[in-house]
Amino acid sequence: MKRIGIFVFILLACCCAAMAEQPEWTYPLPPEILANNEGYITLANKEVLLDADYAPQDLEKLAVRNVVDDPVRKAVNDALVTMFADAEENGYKLYVKSAYRSYQTQHTMYFNRLEKNNGKDDGWVSYPGASDHQTGLGIDVLNYAWTKKEGMNEKFALEDEAKWMAENCWDYGFVIRYMEDKEEITQINYEPWHLRYVGPEVAKYMQEMHYCLEEFTQEWQAYIEEYEANGGDFNQLLKERAAIEATVIGYSEDGEEEVSLSHNFY
Ligand SMILES: [Zn+2]
Repeated sequence: MKRIGIFVFILLACCCAAMAEQPEWTYPLPPEILANNEGYITLANKEVLLDADYAPQDLEKLAVRNVVDDPVRKAVNDALVTMFADAEENGYKLYVKSAYRSYQTQHTMYFNRLEKNNGKDDGWVSYPGASDHQTGLGIDVLNYAWTKKEGMNEKFALEDEAKWMAENCWDYGFVIRYMEDKEEITQINYEPWHLRYVGPEVAKYMQEMHYCLEEFTQEWQAYIEEYEANGGDFNQLLKERAAIEATVIGYSEDGEEEVSLSHNFY
C-alpha cells in the first residue's frame, strides 16, 4: 500500500511538473474529444472533402427500424437503439431512410441529380467527398408517411416525429446537421431529417451554442491554434493526460482496496 502510494505520488508529481509548462486548457470540452481519434467530429462539406477511400472501419448493419440496407457506425447504432426506444415510448415511430454512403454511391447520385436538373447543382445532393453520409455518422430519419414520399423537403419539420427529434436528439449524441438558419454556412438546404452523430458531450455543447458543425469546427481549431501560439503543445498535452489517466487507478498490495485518484482537468 505504502509503496503504491509513493509510486503514484512520484508519477503525479512528475506529470504535474510537466503539465505546469503547458498553458491552462480552458476550452469547454476536453482535448481528447478534439483529437478526434474516433472521427466523431469529422467535418465533410464542399470545402473539406473526404478522400475517395475514406470509409469507417466499424460499420455494421442497422439495428433499428429502417427502409434501407445502408450500414452505420457502431456508436450511431447504439445511440439509435436508445433514441428509437425512447421515441416510441412517447408515441413516435422513427425509420432510418439512409445511413452510410460510399464515395462512389455519392458520385453516382450527384451526377444523376445534375443530369435531371439541367446541369445545375440545386443543393439537394452533396458533391462526392462532401457528404456527411460518407462519415458513417450521418443518417436520415423519418416517420412512416415520409418514407413513402418521392422527394424530401423542409415541411417534414412540421411532423411530430421531426419536432421530437429536434428537441431530443442532442441527448443521444446527435445534432441536426443542416439547420434552418445556417444554410449560408453549411451551403445545404435545411434538412430536419438529417441527424449527425458527434457524441453526447459535443452534441450538448453545440446545442447550447446553437452551432452547426462548421461553426464548431472553426471554433475548436482556432482555440488549438491560439493554445499553441501561447506556447502550448496540443499533442504533448494529450500524452501527458493519457499518462495521468493510466495512473489514476491502482490496487493496494493486499489486492482488496482500490486506490483511485481522479483528476478533473476541465
Ligand atoms: Zn442525409
